[in-house]
Amino acid sequence: MLIIVHYAEIALKGGNRNFFEKRLVENIKKSLQANGIVFDYVKRIYGRILINLSDGEEEGGKLPPMKELPSFLNALKSVFGVAHFSLVEKCDKDIEKIKEKALDVLSQKDFQTFKVEAKRSDKKFVLTSQQVNEQIGEEILRKTIAHYLCDRTNNEQERKIKVDLHNPDIILYIEITEKDVFLYTEKIKGPGGLPLGVSGKAVCLISGGIDSPVAAWYLMKRGVENIFVHFYSTQQGYEKSLEKVRDLLRALNAFQLNSKIYFVPFSDIQKEILLNTQADLRVVLYRRFMFRVSQEIAFKENAKALITGENVGQVASQTLDNMLVISQATTLPILRPLAGFDKIEIIEIAKKIGAYNISILPHLDCCSMFAPEHPATKANLKEVQKEEKKLKIRKLITSALKNTKIENI
Ligand code: ATP
Ligand code: MG
Repeated sequence: MLIIVHYAEIALKGGNRNFFEKRLVENIKKSLQANGIVFDYVKRIYGRILINLSDGEEEGGKLPPMKELPSFLNALKSVFGVAHFSLVEKCDKDIEKIKEKALDVLSQKDFQTFKVEAKRSDKKFVLTSQQVNEQIGEEILRKTIAHYLCDRTNNEQERKIKVDLHNPDIILYIEITEKDVFLYTEKIKGPGGLPLGVSGKAVCLISGGIDSPVAAWYLMKRGVENIFVHFYSTQQGYEKSLEKVRDLLRALNAFQLNSKIYFVPFSDIQKEILLNTQADLRVVLYRRFMFRVSQEIAFKENAKALITGENVGQVASQTLDNMLVISQATTLPILRPLAGFDKIEIIEIAKKIGAYNISILPHLDCCSMFAPEHPATKANLKEVQKEEKKLKIRKLITSALKNTKIENI
């Protein structure tokens, strides 16, 4: 079974194109393998990717309609960089062969109106795209009525096949490449974006709530490999919360395939803050520590940014004043893809990526532990730094990192 994968944005990337395409091929292979799908090859051909799935049953047979496709093709729907893909039939670069194949492909379909959409990446082909459209269209009109539909129905009505350029029941796509011609009638939408890994790595702070997995997904979509970090306090039942975070990563692995996570114990840092600093600044101080520790992890991982699920105005710690003060704890750029979303929009994506039902399960939130009744909403850097002077920052960070456990999910 042959599949052609189209990618849109990669074409724009000039000198990087080769690198991007190679990565996409690798990612497709990994996703197929992870889903237990056997293939003969996945290779680049003239601005597309061609996949040959090993499937003896289909050899020489007819392709099933898209809606009946085995669910394993869902594997391709999670590979970022895929714009759309199609099950295709292949034939030689000969107009008579193309006619034959076109009739063959359409004989499996029910339609009354159609349109042919030919595209040449080989501009040297003897016919222009428009000439191919016309010749194949004529052939379909002539032969379909004569041979194909007659043996399927006696209903006069159904034999009246027509061309409709604006709103056809079916479009026959014909792609003429340097070597072969591919024909298909349906395009399955991929997730778009850029191949995972082409944009390098970033450290994503994942809490266990709804927002951070969605934030991770958005950056994965732009080709960023996420290294995760989760801060936890060792209160009763915390192991269940860690398992919940692992479950979230398992859901995200539909897109990233495997995830590395740093579990950082946070109790000692919280205790120090609690005992020594002003109550209303606690959450801001917690957050600055999270960024400092995450930055160390980023340096170690050669990651170039931090990612959070922060959202302007959602809670007290997420006012612009507080975000400014929190951001100043690190020199790394902080990517906040959800900054301008409404909760309802975030939930929609969380559901789509399979994270929502996990996120809404109860978990222990280390930040709300000992959170003051009236947290500061307009923290001021000088004031915060004055409070931090009372803490052994370096020692706390070193100790937290020393007790951090790394897992691969
Ligand atoms: P979420 O729904 O992801 O928990 P939230 O809206 O509840 O986000 P906060 O709890 O204020 O927001 O946290 C803001 C961001 O800080 C989170 O999206 C996440 O990136 C990071 N964060 C918060 N708590 C933790 C934690 N325990 N470990 C790692 N990152 C965290
Ligand atoms: Mg939260």
